[in-house]
Amino acid sequence: MKPIISTVFVLFIALFLVACQSDDQVVNLYTSRHYDIDQELYDLFTEETGIQVNIIQAGGDVLIERILSEGENSPADLFMTVNVSLLEEAKARGILQPFDSNTIVDNVDQDFIDPDNFYTGLSMRARIIAYHKDRVQPSELSTYEALTEPQWRGRLLLRSSSNMYNQNMVAAFVPLLGEADTRSMIQGWVNNFARDPQGNDRDQARAMAATNPEGDVAILNTYYLGLMLTSSDPADVAVAEQIGVFFPNQATTGTHINVSGAGITSTSKNVAAATQLLEFLTSERAQAVFAGGNFEYPVNPRVEPTQFLQDLGPFNHQTVPFSQISQSMETAYRLMLEVDWT
Ligand code: FE
Repeated sequence: MKPIISTVFVLFIALFLVACQSDDQVVNLYTSRHYDIDQELYDLFTEETGIQVNIIQAGGDVLIERILSEGENSPADLFMTVNVSLLEEAKARGILQPFDSNTIVDNVDQDFIDPDNFYTGLSMRARIIAYHKDRVQPSELSTYEALTEPQWRGRLLLRSSSNMYNQNMVAAFVPLLGEADTRSMIQGWVNNFARDPQGNDRDQARAMAATNPEGDVAILNTYYLGLMLTSSDPADVAVAEQIGVFFPNQATTGTHINVSGAGITSTSKNVAAATQLLEFLTSERAQAVFAGGNFEYPVNPRVEPTQFLQDLGPFNHQTVPFSQISQSMETAYRLMLEVDWT
């Protein structure tokens, strides 16, 4: 009996060690990012560290509710999204914990890190004015506010008010302009709408380049134009070639940006591995993938943006604290509904 018992005991210990190790060798990532490069990044991370990344993909708001309802037993280690308002919401609702890593702090421009280290930015994206090169001269463009002028009547394309990029953009204007002026600005935009809001960012570019164009200016994220220019679909390449990029508000409040970022969940069982993933994602190697594969601006200042973005030139971005954007979200959405931005 004795040898059997000790064999069983040794096996048990071995299984226990494997279980401990495999727990440490996994990061469960809840993410709302939806880009082709993301899997490439996680594969590189696994190759470098041996740590597996399990992905749960859904809308950022859905993921927050899911983590809250899972409570202490939530398998989530990292929450990742593309709008700072949701990172702030996750922080405020207690589902994130501060990271403890000088590497992350050293990797990331401090403009893009939560001052309390509850999350870090991973990439930055500019929400610019896109215009049709044949029908609009860049000299006609200046600010987001100027898109309310009568010359743009029936020419402005925007996606719906339910879109988080637009909600975050309007929310950033509330502290900059005050509620009344933000309302007048978006009322002016609605008055100039080329059509009822529809489609995603790329669809606004497609509507400008259509044989029967529906509008001449739009507000969208730069990386979608980069993705279209390098698309395997020649129709998208042809669209992107007709579209120019203008960075608004350079002499005033700066171009609106949205920041994709991530934080470690307060219930994570794999904090060390989750921290390693954040360190990796902010490293020069990973930041070059965000930049090269998805045309996002790196948050690591040691990494250059891709040539497409370098050709667009440097720009001044808005510097509204992320907490203020988050606090203005309800006001922003109410204003959008009040002016009938559908
Ligand atoms: Fe996007």
